[in-house]
Amino acid sequence: MSEKIHELVIVGSGPAGYTAGIYAGRAQLEPILYEGSVTAGGALMNTTEVENFPGFPDGVMGPDLMDNLKAQCEKFGTKLVRDDIVDMKLDGEIKILTDGSGNVLKAKSVILATGSAYKEIGLTNEKRLSGRGVSWCATCDGFFFRDQEIAVVGGGDSAMEEANFLTRFAKKVVLIHRRDSLRASKIMVDRAKANPKIEFLWNTEVIDVLGEDKMTGLKLRNTVDGSESEKPFTGLFVAIGHLPRSELVKGQVDLDAEGYVKVDGRSTRTNLTGVFACGDLVDHTYRQAITAAGTGCEAALDAERFLAGH
Ligand code: NAP
Repeated sequence: MSEKIHELVIVGSGPAGYTAGIYAGRAQLEPILYEGSVTAGGALMNTTEVENFPGFPDGVMGPDLMDNLKAQCEKFGTKLVRDDIVDMKLDGEIKILTDGSGNVLKAKSVILATGSAYKEIGLTNEKRLSGRGVSWCATCDGFFFRDQEIAVVGGGDSAMEEANFLTRFAKKVVLIHRRDSLRASKIMVDRAKANPKIEFLWNTEVIDVLGEDKMTGLKLRNTVDGSESEKPFTGLFVAIGHLPRSELVKGQVDLDAEGYVKVDGRSTRTNLTGVFACGDLVDHTYRQAITAAGTGCEAALDAERFLAGH
């Protein structure tokens, strides 16, 4: 274990972690930011154009936005580490963190910005056929479904976005939703409804994914009358939301019933002194790149004030 005690370690990248890195670096806290070994940059690395991030009237590609945030972190001296934190002891005055390479770090304060992970439907065959027809990322895998008939499940903005994107490749995209009205924003719904390659299948849930070595179809149930049917599809994109990535701090930091980290009022303070949380790890409601960036800024300011007072 290195004897150095860092002022601040930031765990997680994405708009929240990187913005915390920019502010804390600029405040000369010399933060160490763990970006994650495979998830560096967070969810926006898997998106295409971000149209609503302020300051980019012509839109910006998700990965480019993340590269810019990263470069801005480095400009202010934040040390970026492309590894995971695999263990944290957060209750003492000095926090102890272990990374995936076995390095052990000591820090006076920690910002948690680990974001969220794709939610699964929870079917055995969904997991078994993952990468063989079942996917959670249209921008990663859409290319493999050229001229095919595929399904997207979900009724939120993610499902609309995935479906629209997939029409670049697929012959037809069927959007399967468990109710008869969508949760997605009007602009996204209008765009999907105007797309001639997208069909909607309402009041329907996926109850099984069919196929041996690769997906060949879906078993569906009508949520109104309970009737079941099978339909041939060669791909399924699951876009039913996200779950907070809080496993590592469970039992130490207070979480709510859904696993989001609880913070004190309008602040980013958790129940543990010197531990702050931001971004999708905390946010049930807004979950936008710009709101995550905003709370990343708040976490850095909270950490800076905490360190100044100690
Ligand atoms: P979401 O808004 O929570 O929507 C999840 C959808 O999946 C809902 O329609 C929900 O159905 C359905 N669902 C949940 N669990 C299900 C299950 N087990 N089986 C079948 N369906 C299930 O999640 P999201 O679409 O990922 O969006 C998250 C946030 O990111 C939102 O704030 C959204 O605005 C934002 N976002 C924005 C953009 C953009 O502006 N470009 C793009 C993507 C995401 P019910 O409606 O019946 O609950």
